[in-house]
Amino acid sequence: MNKEKYINIVCKTCNQEFGIRLHDFEFYRSIDSHLAHYCPKCRFIRRVPSSQERSSLSNPLK
Ligand SMILES: [Zn+2]
Repeated sequence: MNKEKYINIVCKTCNQEFGIRLHDFEFYRSIDSHLAHYCPKCRFIRRVPSSQERSSLSNPLK
């Protein structure tokens, strides 16, 4: 049985707690440490150039 360890991290941007696999956390730390501290959503947003700010008002998830 494959037992994955999950850890909870509070996102530095939206302050929401999210779970991440310890394996993934270590991976992010090894390549680019700060990314591990953002939830997947904010992580994605941070990849978008800030010059292309988009309104999140039409976000269907909220
Ligand atoms: Zn976030």
